[in-house]
Amino acid sequence: MSDNPLVNHFRKVEVYIPLPSKGKYYPEKLETSVDDEIGIYPMTVKDEIEIKSADSLYNGEALYHMISSCVPSIKDPKNMPVCDVDPILLGIRYASYGKEVDLNMTCQKCEALNQFSVSVQDMLGRLQPMEGNDTVTLEDKTIIHIVPYMLKHRVQTSVQNSKNRQLMLVLNNANKSDEEKKEIYNRTIVEQSLLLTDLVSQCIKKVVLEDGTEVDNPLFIKEWVENINRKTYDILNDAIGKLSQTRVNKQVQGKCNSCGSDIHSSLEIDPFSFFT
Ligand SMILES: [Zn+2]
Repeated sequence: MSDNPLVNHFRKVEVYIPLPSKGKYYPEKLETSVDDEIGIYPMTVKDEIEIKSADSLYNGEALYHMISSCVPSIKDPKNMPVCDVDPILLGIRYASYGKEVDLNMTCQKCEALNQFSVSVQDMLGRLQPMEGNDTVTLEDKTIIHIVPYMLKHRVQTSVQNSKNRQLMLVLNNANKSDEEKKEIYNRTIVEQSLLLTDLVSQCIKKVVLEDGTEVDNPLFIKEWVENINRKTYDILNDAIGKLSQTRVNKQVQGKCNSCGSDIHSSLEIDPFSFFT
């Protein structure tokens, strides 16, 4: 504890929110309130400046810092399950800027631009607990113990996607033969699928064979995932995906101010734009 007499005037927890994971899958036990909610502080100026600088966001560091700063109960944001990320970002947004977010929606019928205020509080109130099973039983009775994707995996995927987009852009303008372009393109596709296989294997914690043999060595698991058939891969990928799904209903509905038609849209909770 600081001996600064101003310590009681530092920022305070602004909002408590429930987590879809209920604190499961974190490397450490989370400190929560009596009703299992997690406290969120508003951003400091430093957090805000950091999150607005695109360069540091690129590798996820700014995002990890912001979560550590605003949600100190989460000690290791890299290893938090992704199903909790949207609620945490909504909570930080609420704690820092208030209950509402403005959203621009274009009417599909008359193309008028409408501005709506979306209640972050309502969205947080409609949070659903996570869905899916963390064990999968295959046809040959092998039991696979899985966990959801972690935030670091999402960051890794978005870094890779953004690299690919840049590469494609360069390729289109580059002075290269079609042959060379095709080769670079194929290499990118291979890299992409290696990353996806790697992420799936990182989300498998244990494989239990029918005879009871347990395998939890990450290298053995990775080698196994690289050598399973497509059908088994899809089963695992779907099961991990289900555990990782966002549990925030981001749908927004309203009526067009101009022609009265119903308009639907969904709130984009992308850390790269949500705080800027
Ligand atoms: Zn309209």
